[in-house]
Amino acid sequence: MALTIETIISLCKRRGFIFQSSEIYGGLASTYDYGPLGAVLKRNIKDAWWRAMVDERDDIEGLDASILMHPRVWEASGHVENFNDPLVDCKACRKRFRADRIWVVSLIGPDGEDWGEVGPIEAGSAPDAVEAAIHKEYKKKGAPEGLQTNPRTVAEVPQSKHTRCPECGGELTESREFNMMFRTTLGAVEETGLSVYLRPETAQGIFANFDNVLTSMRRKLPFGIAQIGKSFRNEVTTKSFIFRTLEFEQMELEYFVMPGEDMDMYDYWRNQRFNWYKRYGMNPDNLRLRDHERSELAHYAKGCCDVEYKFPFGWSELEGIANRTDFDLKQHAKFSGKRLEYYDQPNDRHVVPYVIEPSAGVDRSLLAFLCNAYEEEQLENGPRVVMRFHPDLAPLKAAVFPLLRNRPELVEKGKALAADLRKSFPARYDDTAAIGKLYRRQDEIGTPLGITVDVESLEDQCVTVRHRDTMVQDRVPMERLAEFCTDKLNLMRQEFTR
Ligand SMILES: [Zn+2]
Repeated sequence: MALTIETIISLCKRRGFIFQSSEIYGGLASTYDYGPLGAVLKRNIKDAWWRAMVDERDDIEGLDASILMHPRVWEASGHVENFNDPLVDCKACRKRFRADRIWVVSLIGPDGEDWGEVGPIEAGSAPDAVEAAIHKEYKKKGAPEGLQTNPRTVAEVPQSKHTRCPECGGELTESREFNMMFRTTLGAVEETGLSVYLRPETAQGIFANFDNVLTSMRRKLPFGIAQIGKSFRNEVTTKSFIFRTLEFEQMELEYFVMPGEDMDMYDYWRNQRFNWYKRYGMNPDNLRLRDHERSELAHYAKGCCDVEYKFPFGWSELEGIANRTDFDLKQHAKFSGKRLEYYDQPNDRHVVPYVIEPSAGVDRSLLAFLCNAYEEEQLENGPRVVMRFHPDLAPLKAAVFPLLRNRPELVEKGKALAADLRKSFPARYDDTAAIGKLYRRQDEIGTPLGITVDVESLEDQCVTVRHRDTMVQDRVPMERLAEFCTDKLNLMRQEFTR
């Protein structure tokens, strides 16, 4: 059976990965909290990114810029003027929608005959999602197969009788532009304070620090600056769990190159970033690179593509890779009055570097890794849900259980073993259920290794190590346990990379 997003949401809540924010107060829309296991999973994803982007390379520096920045930054970046969503309100039920997410669709027959319109259909902006929603809708209306569809947003067809509220059918207001930045006030007094924004992206903190990093680290082109951090967008969101949230985390790299070397570097980063997801076990069948059409490109961009994952709700973006040319540095030079240039010594000239930007979402990567890891199996003794996380991403690496939890010697041994393993990696002791159930619980959170202390262990000083994916068991001397587990995890890492 196909995986549904509801299955993932329910597992996340049940097993402490993700909770609705402020749940005891009825929740707050489009905000989520990462629970004990989710917090670790998220940190592991960020660590894996940082390792690949900073630690394993000698051409990239890290940065941790502040969330609040000088308001002029957002004038330079274009966010004050252009970072808007077209919104419509329902005059009847007062719900607010994105005008570019409500579709009215004309149906055209094989000989060009007019089959009328269907709508309003609320769907994301991804072509696949729109197509799927249309198909469902016009099947419902009994329209024959094979009709051509011409989807337009309500902003494009304000006059249609189908330009109505998708929830209640009420009349919609005209589409208006709303800026998506969260605004707050600096200083204690609202009236005299300076208006500032919570950053809508981490990238501008990098551009603003270009010269600081270049100078302090004595860098030569090409080089990059990488940053992980929170961003905020005041969006009207549809239900998509942690895929789109008001507060989210980004992993962004700005890679500065000589003009002329930019397209080669763009191609390089496309591949590099696509392969990163595969390295951490993402099924290539559910992963694709989608190049943007010319019409989708920002006016300054020379190329842009998305790494997309096939979520239960359709193909959606995990990461965008863009060739942003010299637009950002030039804008900041213009608005700050500072020279943001690179001195090209061999040619004795100043150049404004071009920049390649791979920009990934932590939360949506996490959701993709959850979907990717999920598997249900039918075993002889019943079903098992197993999260096949890459060992680097798995929140716990090993769990230790006593075969009999009423035997104090086994309990004591088990606790001591877990404590010893923790010197090497995250490991837990658990005796809160019968052994079969304990294994299932660890499978469900993706713990690679399960270790059982049994009565025989007291005599032969060995324990049983069970492998999550193969369920193969090994008998291992306790004194070599940490070493054995480390080797096993390494082996597993290699298998994932292959
Ligand atoms: Zn309504």
